[in-house]
Amino acid sequence: MSHVFPRHTHKPPPTAVRGAGCYLYDADGKAYLDGSGGAAVSCLGHGDAEIIAAVQEQTAQLAFAHTGFFTSDPAEELADLLAEHAPGDLNRVYFVSGGSEATEAALKLARQYFVETGQPQRRHVIARQQSYHGNTLGALAAGGNAWRRAQFAPLLMDVHHIAPCYEYMLRAEDESAEAYGLRAAQELEDTILRLGPDSVMAFMAEPVVGATLGAVPAVDGYFKRIREICDTYGVLLILDEVMCGMGRTGHLFACEADGVTPDILCIAKGLGAGYQPIGAMLCTGAIYDAIKDGSGFFQHGHTYLGHPVATAAGRAVVRKLLRDDLVARAAWQGDRLSAALTERLGQHPHVGDLRGRGMFQGIELVQDREIKQPFAPEHGLAGKVKAAAFEAGLICYPMSGTRDGKNGDHVLLAPPFIISDAEIDELVDKLSGAIDHAI
Ligand code: PLP
Repeated sequence: MSHVFPRHTHKPPPTAVRGAGCYLYDADGKAYLDGSGGAAVSCLGHGDAEIIAAVQEQTAQLAFAHTGFFTSDPAEELADLLAEHAPGDLNRVYFVSGGSEATEAALKLARQYFVETGQPQRRHVIARQQSYHGNTLGALAAGGNAWRRAQFAPLLMDVHHIAPCYEYMLRAEDESAEAYGLRAAQELEDTILRLGPDSVMAFMAEPVVGATLGAVPAVDGYFKRIREICDTYGVLLILDEVMCGMGRTGHLFACEADGVTPDILCIAKGLGAGYQPIGAMLCTGAIYDAIKDGSGFFQHGHTYLGHPVATAAGRAVVRKLLRDDLVARAAWQGDRLSAALTERLGQHPHVGDLRGRGMFQGIELVQDREIKQPFAPEHGLAGKVKAAAFEAGLICYPMSGTRDGKNGDHVLLAPPFIISDAEIDELVDKLSGAIDHAI
């Protein structure tokens, strides 16, 4: 009997024993094409000798030194690299162990910033429905996935949720994309005014919505208007690029495509590429200075922040992304993936929408394409697609709709940037077979 507490207690998973390139292998030798990089993690694929060597060398040199006492070379150098390439003046980097820790830290930094700058009345957080910011309590409260939140609702702080920018379902037929973007952003201003501008601390959003909607970017102009609204009312803009960041969308930072710079930016997943658990929160010099010139102490921390081996892995990953031009590769191989999906699934009677950027693509499945009617939750379509794909040797990331009829089931694809043309063909083949089998 296994003593591991698995995520799905009724069906323990097979044992993964090896990874190489875009494939994982189980104990029976079965190969799985990693079409979602796990959950948008493995941007470099598996078994990358360079990253493995970096981890081994750092472990031998210095595995751990608590940040209450020390900094370390890999943490300093990774922070330099990120600050150098991040947009605007996001030039301070706070390392954590994953995505939820990054979004939690962002919320606490926003709060402390206002306490330190004489605005302690600012406490409201605004975020969006159908979003995901992590599973710890603060992050879960910020997220707007009704199903994930439901049973924990009594434990969650109040967060005000506005509609996402979700063109496929929410743009009116007679509305231009630009007008829709402005209308969607207006809800933020209305909410700030309703709560009282002086009481709002931060607005948090994913530039490209990942797990809850399936690779949904905002329409052009939406985030620019969001940035203006935040500036008008002194509200901090927190962008969560835990899933869509680190090159996945064809830009090192996803917000570059939207032409905005947040005040606080969260990254994780692709930063360690699966070789180490690591995330980070980047903030502007102005926010950092408020703490430095105030109490001088960010009242938040975890034992493993700035872990030398984790930051050494992140440093090796970012160096490789930059040196080998892998972000550009994510853009052009992403176009190829998108074209292959359109060719194979564009006319499928149950494919309502294909969207995404770079190596971050989503397929929304609906019962009725004409009226964009989702499948009934009882169908359990997402689970069936996942099972059929896995059986066929494909790892993808299907999620059910939010069960309120507001969006369909979707499949998220986030393969390693190194995926070849032949592997893209295999992915699309296996996925379309799994969708047909599941429906
Ligand atoms: N934010 C976003 C956008 C995510 O997609 C996720 C995880 O999927 C998280 C935060 C939480 O990250 P983690 O699972 O590493 O805690």
